[in-house]
Amino acid sequence: MRRRRALLVLAAGLLAAGPVLPAHASHEPEKRVAATITEHWRSLRAERGFLGEPLGELRCDPAVTRCTQGFAGGSIVWEPARGPYLAAADRAASRYAVVNKHRPLPEGYAPARLREVAPGHRLVPAAARQAKALLAAAAEDGVALRVASGYRSTDHQAAAFRRWTRELGAERAAQQSARPRHSEHETGLAMDLLPASGPCQEFGCFADTEHAGWLAEHAYEHGFVVRYQEGQEDVTGFTYEPWHLRFVGEPLARDLRALGSDSLEEHLGLSPAPAYAASLPRDRQPLRWSGD
Ligand SMILES: [Zn+2]
Repeated sequence: MRRRRALLVLAAGLLAAGPVLPAHASHEPEKRVAATITEHWRSLRAERGFLGEPLGELRCDPAVTRCTQGFAGGSIVWEPARGPYLAAADRAASRYAVVNKHRPLPEGYAPARLREVAPGHRLVPAAARQAKALLAAAAEDGVALRVASGYRSTDHQAAAFRRWTRELGAERAAQQSARPRHSEHETGLAMDLLPASGPCQEFGCFADTEHAGWLAEHAYEHGFVVRYQEGQEDVTGFTYEPWHLRFVGEPLARDLRALGSDSLEEHLGLSPAPAYAASLPRDRQPLRWSGD
């Protein structure tokens, strides 16, 4: 086994030691793709990361214009124009969906199922379950939180964006709120939290609360990440939002923490999305409807 791994490393032209995919590609283009995908998988912590162990071998179409490698936790796809990418990041219903100013949700998208987290606030079932656990853990640690916002329909998001634009002007509204089809709240995977009681009852003062400190430390234990971190506007397109939590599941949340990644874009190797743009980078895809 060890010898085969060593040979594969050489075959792939990789000098660094580390795990490699079990690709038995017999011709050069596939070997190069296998090497590229291996590198991407390694950047995601290889078998220790959320993708886990590879499943089967690399599959390519005859002309090698699209290849897929399966893993226990998802697939990496390779295309010449894009290079390797996490397939699920393009799927609106996946917990790994990356929605940003370059990556809108499909027209008319709505999650198939939603479950109540708190009266009037819903998330997709897996996120709702974990959100309840997070809220219980926070309360137990003396920093009880309440849900200020969960799932928003596209119509609701459009109304919210119009309101922010009226109140803040177009430029600031774009940094703090999302256009319809561009908000994580429309996926049912994101929620905004505020202290359940106490003097701070709005987002403007939240960063200085113990509650924000607790979320930064513990959200990952329940599969959530603070999606819009300080100083990441040029990558995520949004200013610091210590109250906005995004569900990605515990394995990926742990990976972001382990590698110190400041955004999903950085962690998954996607282009920064600082602003709405007329011409978009190659990895911009209107997301697909499907899930994991
Ligand atoms: Zn939010």
